[in-house]
Amino acid sequence: MLKEIKIRLHQGSQFIKDVRNVEVPGIFKGRPVISTKNCDEVALVELCPTAAISVNPFQIDLGKCNFCGACAFHSPDKIQFTKDYHLAVNEREALIIRAGENKALIVNKEKRRPEIERFFKQSFKIRQVSAGGDNSAELELNASGNVQFDSGRFGFEFVASPRHADAVLITGPITENMAQPLETCFSDIPSPKVIILCGTDAISGGVFQNSKALDRSFIEKHPIDLYIPGNPPHPLTFINGILDFIGKKP
Ligand code: SF4
Repeated sequence: MLKEIKIRLHQGSQFIKDVRNVEVPGIFKGRPVISTKNCDEVALVELCPTAAISVNPFQIDLGKCNFCGACAFHSPDKIQFTKDYHLAVNEREALIIRAGENKALIVNKEKRRPEIERFFKQSFKIRQVSAGGDNSAELELNASGNVQFDSGRFGFEFVASPRHADAVLITGPITENMAQPLETCFSDIPSPKVIILCGTDAISGGVFQNSKALDRSFIEKHPIDLYIPGNPPHPLTFINGILDFIGKKP
């Protein structure tokens, strides 16, 4: 027993206490900030691999950005990536970052369905569907439940069956082969149900956006409740996005 206590004391506490404000170490790229300085904007448009940059006005669409950092490397005076991991929003338009703006991305409670907080604040079960995903977003979602991030303590977790779920969370660009299984999964979730797009590929198709192998009719057919950008999204982006969406204070 003493041995076990010693080990626990030696390990200390491994979980992140404050998932709202903890700093991410290393080279993490979060919300970009664009200055109003002049630069060769056309060159930036051309180098972006996912057509996330557009001009007149100059802006970056975080739903398309794969956070490669090439634009910031090319024009560090124009574009900088901050370490702000609070990126989830419930309006597609809110993912557009414009030059001269430096404001936090938030879940707009006015636009959220009123039943969301009432039904899901204490318990939110998610069925994840990898619709042609490359396993990167899936790995990070997995990590969100590990001993460090411990998303389960906030009352949300992944479930194996859509019949036990409140939401479908989609990763990947939605390939033709996954279009029907995704519909089937969604139809099996009891109402009220939520759709979450997680990662650049799910939100816009990412680098695959022009591929003929995609069938994104699901996105056109159903209203989307939450967008979690990132390529892949960081566990803190995922956790904070869900907390904001269900209206839970950690
Ligand atoms: S970081 Fe985003 S906006 Fe910049 S070049 Fe890469 S994909 Fe394009």
